[in-house]
This record gives sequence, C-alpha cells and structure tokens, in this order.
Amino acid sequence: MTDSSFTSDDHTHDDESDGDKLKLTDFDVEDTLGTGTFGKVLLVRYKKATNQPDALKFFALKVLRKTEIIKLRQVEHVKAEKFLLSRVRHPFIVDLYATFQDHLNVYMLLSYIPGGELFSHLRRAKRFTPDVTRFYLATIVLALKYLHSLNIVYRDLKPENLLLDSRGYLRLTDFGFAKYVEDRTYTLCGTPEYLAPEVIQSHGHGKAVDWWACGILTYEMLVGYPPFFDETAFGIYEKILRGRIHWPRDIDPLSRSIVCELLHPDLTKRLGNMNGGVSDVMNHPWFRGVDWDALERCEIRAPLIPYVAGMDDTRNYTSERRMPSPRNIPGMFEDFEPLPPPDPFDSTALEFLDF
Ligand code: ATP
Ligand code: MG
Repeated sequence: MTDSSFTSDDHTHDDESDGDKLKLTDFDVEDTLGTGTFGKVLLVRYKKATNQPDALKFFALKVLRKTEIIKLRQVEHVKAEKFLLSRVRHPFIVDLYATFQDHLNVYMLLSYIPGGELFSHLRRAKRFTPDVTRFYLATIVLALKYLHSLNIVYRDLKPENLLLDSRGYLRLTDFGFAKYVEDRTYTLCGTPEYLAPEVIQSHGHGKAVDWWACGILTYEMLVGYPPFFDETAFGIYEKILRGRIHWPRDIDPLSRSIVCELLHPDLTKRLGNMNGGVSDVMNHPWFRGVDWDALERCEIRAPLIPYVAGMDDTRNYTSERRMPSPRNIPGMFEDFEPLPPPDPFDSTALEFLDF
C-alpha cells in the first residue's frame, strides 16, 4: 500500500518524480462546488501556479472519503471512475489531470467547468425550446458515440452531471457509474428517474441504458420534469415499467417521436441500440439540419452563454446545489437487498489504495 501515489496518466506529466507527488496542501480551497453521496467537489487553486493562465491555476477537486467508499461498497466504482476518466479525452467530457490520495481521501483533479449544472439552468428556464434541447442533446449524442466506441457505458446521464463550460457547451462529469462493458452487466446503479426497465428488472444491460437516459433527458428538457415521477423510488420504478408517458399538449409530434423511440422498452427496437447504432439517432428527422462536424469542433454558437467573471467565479454553483442531490438515494447501489455492514478495516476492500 503506497500513500499519496500520484499516478501519471496519458495527459498528466510523465516527468513526475517522487518529490512531485501532489497533496492536498498544494492547493488553496476556494469554494465548495457540489456535495455528492460520499464526498464533495471543491474549487481549488494550485499554489505553485502563480504565473500560469487561470485555466491552469483553478481546478475542481473531487474528494472522496475512503471510509464512505468502503461503507457504501463503492471501491470498484471509484477505481473504474479513475481508470476510465483517465483514458478518455473529448471536447464534451471533463478532463482528469491527476489523481492522488492520503490516509483519509482519494482525490481527482478535474478541469473546473464554470457555467454550472444544466440542472440549474433548466430549473430556472422551467423548460427548453426544441432548438435549445436539440443543441444539448446533440452534444450528448456525440459524447456517447465516443464513449460507446470505447465500450464505455456511462450509466448516470442526468442534468446534474452535465456542466456548462464558459462557451455554453456541455461537459459530462461524474464517471462514478461508468463501466467498461463489451456485452452486458447486471449492477443496479444510477438515479431512479433515469433507470431503464432492463436495469430495474435485472435482465442485464449495456449501452442501450444510455439511449434510454437520453430519452428521459430530452423529455425533461422539453417538459421541465421527468416523464416517470413519484415520491418514492419504488413508485418511480412501477411507472417506468408501466411505460405510460403523459405529454403536455404543446409538445410537437417530432419531439414526441424521438423521445418515444429512445424510451422503447424493447432493447432491440430502442433508437441507438439497433443495427444502425448511433447513426440511427443522428439521422433521426428531429436532428435534421444539425452540422455534427461543426458541433464537435465547437463552431456552433451555444444557446446559453453563462456569465462567468473569471476562472475562479463560482456564482453558477449556488448554495442550494451544494446540498446532496435529492435524486440520489444513498445505499441504492448493488442490489435491492440490504447489504451486511462492511468491515472498515477489511484489507481486501482497501486494495483500491493503489489510487
Ligand atoms: P453524486 O453522488 O451526487 O452524483 P458525486 O459524488 O458522484 O455526486 P459528482 O457528480 O462528480 O460527484 O460531482 C458533484 C457535483 O459537483 C456535480 O453535480 C457538480 O455540481 C459539481 N462538479 C463536479 N465536477 C465538476 C467540475 N469539473 N467543475 C465544476 N463543478 C463540478
Ligand atoms: Mg453526480
């Protein structure tokens, strides 16, 4: 077991010698950006970067408490989060610069995305027009196309995990549930409102769950709330399995059709999961007119450019959002069955310390 082992990934410095290992005291903590189930995300300033541009000075530091990771049996998920995030690089996915640890926590140093969660912009706007919805969904389709081409299923698509950068483009954050899957997997994880029927029914699931979540997200952007909604997680699952979608009158037929095709309960008929794969999604008439190449080169003007005064501005992460996400049900992870209490000193559970 090594302490503070700073790992050099593809896009971290290769020339890190032992003395250069990062530690928490290398940073000034400026603010709290978000609180998750077993840790928090802080805005930090790298103390040594005095003459650097702001983009290399300010970072988002995701801090996960080791005891909580073990208590909630998330060791494998945290290892996967680091492993997968360090191997992806895409304009619509947050960059991971480094990982390190101390006796209390594991740390992930991420690019700070200053525009706030899509969640807060959507709640403020109440709902988005089809054009605005199309812009955001198109960027997510390109991010999923990239991840799925690497056999990575994201599994936690929702507006809380989609952040706006200073240009108004989305960045996918939180790879806590992402998984390398060649075929299918059986773990129950995610957020109740966004779970696909095959996940609830433990039939084994794969990339199709991300297309299902795209359908939920599109509905939530167009209508202002998710299609399957209830006070309890169990009530939400019942509604998902019943599959009845209520449409407000003013939602146009083409928007309804792409949502219904993404929310197809039969995996073999779900848009994105058929023979044509992602190209079926991109060629759907709802996306007509989208210049996918220009979008991936970030040449299209975003519908909402967030106000950001500087790279240390946290005004888009309001105090309300610093509370744990109300849609996350703590403990709802591996199975419906309650787990026996874990032994915090179980040495096999601590193997993730090669972080
Ligand atoms: P949860 O269990 O609620 O999903 P989590 O512990 O997995 O949370 P994240 O979702 O990665 O943590 O981060 C929590 C919140 O912190 C995000 O919803 C977002 O508000 C903020 N956040 C995360 N990464 C960044 C970033 N790179 N830049 C700015 N804010 C961020
Ligand atoms: Mg999250």
